[in-house]
Amino acid sequence: MAIARNPTRSVAVGQIQIGGGAPIAIQSMAATKTQDIAATLQQVRLLQAAGADLVRIAVDSKKDVEALAEIRAQTDITLSVDLQENYRLAETVAPHVDKMRYNPGHLHHHEKDKSIEQKVAFIARAAQAHDCALRVGVNCGSVDPRMLERHEGDHERAIVASAIEHCEILDGLGFERYVVSLKDSDWQKVVAVNRLFADQRPDVPLHLGVTEAGMPPDGLIKTRVAFEQLVALGIGDTVRVSLTVPFDDKGQEIDAAREILRDIEAGRFRSVPPSFGEGLNIISCPSCSRVENNRFVELAQEVRALTEYASEEDVTIAVMGCRVNGPGETDDADLGLWCGPTAVNLKRGEETLGYFGYDEVLPRLRQELDAIIVERKSF
Ligand code: SF4
Repeated sequence: MAIARNPTRSVAVGQIQIGGGAPIAIQSMAATKTQDIAATLQQVRLLQAAGADLVRIAVDSKKDVEALAEIRAQTDITLSVDLQENYRLAETVAPHVDKMRYNPGHLHHHEKDKSIEQKVAFIARAAQAHDCALRVGVNCGSVDPRMLERHEGDHERAIVASAIEHCEILDGLGFERYVVSLKDSDWQKVVAVNRLFADQRPDVPLHLGVTEAGMPPDGLIKTRVAFEQLVALGIGDTVRVSLTVPFDDKGQEIDAAREILRDIEAGRFRSVPPSFGEGLNIISCPSCSRVENNRFVELAQEVRALTEYASEEDVTIAVMGCRVNGPGETDDADLGLWCGPTAVNLKRGEETLGYFGYDEVLPRLRQELDAIIVERKSF
């Protein structure tokens, strides 16, 4: 089945093209500590061997940039870097990579005397000087607070408006070599915001993904149904499947993306029952170099096993790997856990309940889950 794709611009990223009718590029992210060069290279090669067109790694410090330079020297894969909160690293990162991702929701943290436009101009100049593309990566857990205020807390409108604002800033700077992503852990929101964005900017290549989709099989199903809805409409130029799986199994993300795209192209759509998404929902991040303790994946698996008894309950539990996105991205969940180096932060909604050792947090989680179930039944 030939699917008419949106007429997006063609963006050159290292050895590949994103958009402009090029095949949909498949990408993933290394989950290892960037400064552990051997482990990161092993992860990059594992993803490359699985067929990744592009691999992203996270960089948070000057030491990470030094490691990045070494990694770049030892691999020919098209490489992208996640700048997250530290946008000023763009200048030192750009010489080593083909694409940089920045998050519009993180630009307000530093240098409050500078405008958003000045910060974006700084990133774009660094990219331009080093033949680099950009991704404007908007994320549900860290939406620009100005946009949330302007749209009175309407997340979907705020996410889209933030992306549009950054496209306009980059266009105004004469920098057109960028793609956009609008991610959420709720696959229905991913579909809604990407459709809204594509209606307004059909020319801008889109990177699709359901963030914190979680563990297989649920994480795969959420991603598949979102991609089916979007790709079938011609939306999406590059995709990332995010799964919470052990580092050595990260190739699964690439295999899954390829299989989903192949099925869509062949017209093989998997329907889900109307009740899909009801009951217990566990969202968990795919982990990356920021993960604070390697027990994270195990923790997510233990949370799933422990809470199986509540599978019929409409409760959302979020399990995140670090302090960068953990606090924000657990706010909307009924119960949230995010990893620190030696302890796990446990939240109920936006309220922090405390920090618990990796061996102590599960009984407390069970207590809280039981309490929620009892409260809802007695309501
Ligand atoms: S929550 Fe933290 S560890 Fe998990 S993917 Fe996001 S940045 Fe990485």
